[in-house]
Amino acid sequence: MNNEIYLDGNATTCILPAAALAAADIMAERYGNPSSSHGTGLRAKVVLDQARQCAVRLLGAGEGRLMFNSGATEGIQTAVLSALVAVRERQVRGESVGSLLVYGATEHKAVPEALAHWNRLLGTNLKLTALPVDGGGLHDLAALRALAPDAAMICTMAANNETGVVSDLDGIAAAIEASGTTALWMVDCVQALGKLQLNLATTRIDYAPFSGHKLHAPKGVGMLYVRAGAPFTPLVMGGGQETGQRSGTENMAGIAALGVVLAALERGDTFPSHAQLHGYRARLADALRAALPGVVFNNAFEKSLPTTLNFAVPGVSSRELMDVFDAARVRVSAGSACSASKAAPSYVLDAMGLPLWRSAGAIRMSFGAMVDEATIATACQRIAHCGAALRAAGMIADQPSAEPDDGLLQLGVEGECGWLVLDAASRSCIVIDPLPALTARITAIVRGHNYRVLAIVATTAGADHAPLVKSLGAHYDAEALTDAFGWPAITAHRLTLADGAEVNAIAIGGQVLAQVAAGEGARAYLLGVKDGVHLPADLVRFAFTAHAESQVAAVTTEQTLLCPTRDARNQLCAGHADVACAADLQLDSHALDAFLQAHPDAMLVDVREPYEFAATIAATAGARAAQSVPLSRLVEHASLWLRGGTHQPLVFVCRSGNRSMKAAQCLRRLGHASSYSLTGGLALAA
Ligand code: PLP
Repeated sequence: MNNEIYLDGNATTCILPAAALAAADIMAERYGNPSSSHGTGLRAKVVLDQARQCAVRLLGAGEGRLMFNSGATEGIQTAVLSALVAVRERQVRGESVGSLLVYGATEHKAVPEALAHWNRLLGTNLKLTALPVDGGGLHDLAALRALAPDAAMICTMAANNETGVVSDLDGIAAAIEASGTTALWMVDCVQALGKLQLNLATTRIDYAPFSGHKLHAPKGVGMLYVRAGAPFTPLVMGGGQETGQRSGTENMAGIAALGVVLAALERGDTFPSHAQLHGYRARLADALRAALPGVVFNNAFEKSLPTTLNFAVPGVSSRELMDVFDAARVRVSAGSACSASKAAPSYVLDAMGLPLWRSAGAIRMSFGAMVDEATIATACQRIAHCGAALRAAGMIADQPSAEPDDGLLQLGVEGECGWLVLDAASRSCIVIDPLPALTARITAIVRGHNYRVLAIVATTAGADHAPLVKSLGAHYDAEALTDAFGWPAITAHRLTLADGAEVNAIAIGGQVLAQVAAGEGARAYLLGVKDGVHLPADLVRFAFTAHAESQVAAVTTEQTLLCPTRDARNQLCAGHADVACAADLQLDSHALDAFLQAHPDAMLVDVREPYEFAATIAATAGARAAQSVPLSRLVEHASLWLRGGTHQPLVFVCRSGNRSMKAAQCLRRLGHASSYSLTGGLALAA
C-alpha cells in the first residue's frame, strides 16, 4: 500500500488478510457475546474456543492455562503479579524466598518496569538485578548460576526485539535447575511466536506472554500461558470471563483474527519457511553491504531470528539513516521503537558492550512473516538508492560527490552546533567550533569535495581539535602555528571594523572571516565582504558567537545573522531585532493548496537534508516540486531571502513537520512575515 516498504516487523506487523476478514466477520455477523447462552452468543463462543484450542496445540501448552488478554504488556503484569503474590504469601509464612528479582539486561522495558511496580505495590521488597549478557546478547549463564539461588523470580526473553538474538532457553533452564532455586520463571515469548518452535508444557517455564500484533494479528490482543500448578492471581476481576482468569468481555475481533493466524501457523502453508526467511535476510544484508560501505551488523545472524538485522554505519547517525530510509519509503527503526524519537543509545546494545557509535547509531531492519520475494527485491533496490543518496551528499567518504557545497553549513547535535564556511570555487573552507561527535562528518565533507581547510577556530579558548586535525590529514596544515582559539598565527589581512577596532582576518573566496574579542576567554567571528581595508557593519552577513546574545552589536547591523554554537533552544540562528513569532505559521495540506493558489509566487522549500531529498520516492505520481534547502543550509539562504527586500512567501516542508516548523519560526523571528510550515510534513501530505 502506498508503495512503502515496511521493514519494522518487530515493532508491529500488518494484518493477515484472512485474519482481517475474520475480525470483520465477528464485528458484522458473529458479534455475539461468547458468555451469552443463546445462539448468537454460542456462534461467537465457537470462535473463541477454536482459537484457544489451536493456541494450546501450537504452543504445546498441555494442561497449563492459556488465556486471551490485551497483549504482552498485560501478560507480563499478570505473570509478575501472580509470582509476587505467591512470593509475598511465602514471606508472610516466614519461608525463605530469596531476595532478588532477576531479569535479563536486554528485556523489553515492560519487564523491569512491571517488576519494580508490583514489587513496590505488594511490598515484597526484593532487589531488582539485571542479568548481564555477553557481546553476542546471550545471557551470562555463569552469572545466572550465581544469582539463581537467591532469586524469587527470573525473567528472560525468548528472542530480543532489537537484535533478534535468540536466547539459550535450554541453557537457562539447566542453570536454574542446577541451582535448586524455587524461583518462578517468566519467558517473554513475544518475538518468538511463529519463529521458534515452542513446546511450553515440556519446559520449566512458568509464564509466557504473547502479543498478536507482532505476528499479523491486530493490536490489543495477546495471550498468556501459565504452567499447570504455577501460582496465578488474576489481574482483572469482574464478570468471570476466561474462566475467571481474566475478566472483561473478550476482544472477539482480535481473538478471531489471532485464531486465524495461529491456525495458519499450525497448517504451515501461509508463511515463508525458515530457509526462505534466512535467504531474504541474507539479500538485505548484501544490499546493505554494497550500499553502505563499512556497515557493521550488531547481531550475529546465526544466533538471531532470521527476520531481524541490526546495523550501524560509521560516520552516519541513526537519525540520518532513519531519515534517508524514510525518504525512500523504507520503514525501519532506530534502536527500539519506543525510543525511536530520542536517538538515545540503545540499552540493549549497551548491555552487549558495543561501542557508543554502534549503539547510538543502530538501525533495526525487521520483517514480518508475511514478507515476500517482491518486497525484498524492492527493498534491496531502495537500499541501493539510499546508499547512492548518502554518497552523493558526501555522507559516506568513499568517493567524491558531484556538487561541492558553497556558503555556510550548520552541523549540530542536540542544541550544540558547529559551522563550516565553504568556498566551492577555491575548494577551501574554515571550520568554526567543530563538535567532536562530528569529526567523521566534517572529514567526509572535506575529503569528499577535496576542500583545503584554512583554519579550525573556536569561540572559546583551549578547545581540543587534535582528533579532527588528525582525521583531516593532508587537507589541513597541522604544522601551522595557531593561538589558543585555533586562529592561524600568520594572517594576511588586517581590517578595520565599524567600531574602529583593527582585527585579523582570513580571506575565503570573496568573503573574509574576521576575529573579534568577545570577553574573557571568548572570541566571536564575523563573516562578510570587505570594502578595502574595512569590514563595515552592513557588510557583515554572519557573526559566530558561543551564545546568541552577542557582544558584536557595535560591528554588525540588524541584517547580520547571529550564529550561535550553543543553540540550546534550537533556534538555528538569531537576529539583533528578533520579532515575536506569530501563531499562524502552520498550514495543513488543504490550506496549502488554497495558499499556493492565492500566492502563485510562493516557494515550497524542502528543508530535509540533501540525502533525504535525493532518496525521496514520492508516494504518488505528480507530487509538487519543492526547492531543496536543507536545515543545515537554512542560515545561508535566510540571509539571502532577508536581504532580497521583497519577502517572497515561503512554505517549508519536511518529513514530519518538526524541521519545517523550526525553519518557519526562524524566518519569522528574523522578520520574514510570510513564512509557513506544512503541518504533519510530507508523511501526511503524501
Ligand atoms: N516484549 C517484547 C519483547 C516486545 O517486543 C513487546 C512489544 O514491543 C512487548 C513485550 C510488549 O508487547 P505489547 O505491545 O503486546 O504490549
